[in-house]
Amino acid sequence: MVNSKIKAGEENLLHVYNRFPVALDYGDGMYVYDTEGRRYLDFAAGFAVTGLGYGNKELNDALKGQIDKIYHISNLYYHENCGEAAKELNRISGMDRVFFTNSGSEANEGALKAARRYAYTKNTGRYEFIAMENSFHGRSFGSVSVTGHNSYREPFEPVLPGVKFAEFNNLDSVKALVNDKTCAIILEPLQGEGGINLATQEFMEGIREICDENEILMICDEVQCGMGRTGTMFTWQGFGVKPDILTMAKAIGNGIPVGAFAMTEAVAAYSLRPGDHGATYGGNPLACTAVKKVIEIFERDQILEHVNQVSPYLERRLDELTEKIGCIVRRKGKGLMQGLEFNIPVSEVNKRTIQEGLLVIQAEGNVIRFLPPLILEEKHIDEMVEKLTKALS
Ligand SMILES: *Cc1c(COP(=O)(O)O)cnc(C)c1O
Repeated sequence: MVNSKIKAGEENLLHVYNRFPVALDYGDGMYVYDTEGRRYLDFAAGFAVTGLGYGNKELNDALKGQIDKIYHISNLYYHENCGEAAKELNRISGMDRVFFTNSGSEANEGALKAARRYAYTKNTGRYEFIAMENSFHGRSFGSVSVTGHNSYREPFEPVLPGVKFAEFNNLDSVKALVNDKTCAIILEPLQGEGGINLATQEFMEGIREICDENEILMICDEVQCGMGRTGTMFTWQGFGVKPDILTMAKAIGNGIPVGAFAMTEAVAAYSLRPGDHGATYGGNPLACTAVKKVIEIFERDQILEHVNQVSPYLERRLDELTEKIGCIVRRKGKGLMQGLEFNIPVSEVNKRTIQEGLLVIQAEGNVIRFLPPLILEEKHIDEMVEKLTKALS
């Protein structure tokens, strides 16, 4: 079944991805199609990116219109799309100041620098970061240094010094690492790559308290769990525990490469200054058109309400599968960021779902992740359950 074109083309690429033998061609709504005309139901959304699905005409028209006007100017000059996208992003995320990046790794890289710069201005002598085991924050040197998987860091050591890892959802293990050198604590309120692990209310509140008591900044990485996926615009809002710095990417541009780190005014007042940070492409007119338009469509089409309406049905159907199928151990997650934990290797499961025409994603700990476009309907959930059941039979 392997497409011969894939082999010829792939030999030119650095081999760092274990790709499935599928060459995709185009997408429409909840479905993507390969070059041989096969249709796949998408419960991956390109890693939680295409929240609005594929082929949204309004978004595509806005992007095309911007391409014809101008799509790059550099940050030596202002473009209103940049300020407007920042204003909208701040409004929905609860932050005050935003810096646009081109990816999630870059957003975390900037967040770490912003935290160090804050400590430098305040002359606190704090530089250490506390991160979580099983976390994922990206592949650049800073972001990989706070990623809680040895295999991601080890080949590149020495990585950033001054990073300690605590056990996720174990407040005592965080407290044990806090000292007068601690600069920031970084965590995903809902871990993605690490296996769909949701922070507890107590953990989020406890981290906030530790930060407040010690002049430590709380950084939430919502690159994957943000932008409506868990039923609030950002997952921190569901906890009512506000970070000092928030990182975003993936779904904020629906696939146009754009990320951001944002902070409260109280942090910004002591953080990065002109000359401290930059990005040539960051906040370009095209990326900011994407952010603006995505937020506009989200609110007008009441995507959040839709997520909250449809996700209990997804949970119920996944719970039914867990009851019925012996190799499924349990369901984890929130909203439209769900995982099923298996007691068999999930790489095999994933191969079989693709053969059935269903896209899902593997995560750590024998977990299959379900990250569908947020526009999905109950009928798509039924179709997914049917395909998954077949794949497992
Ligand atoms: C994907 C991801 C990143 C990295 O984003 P890139 O755009 O791939 O650099 C960082 N943090 C989390 C939580 C992610 O899921």
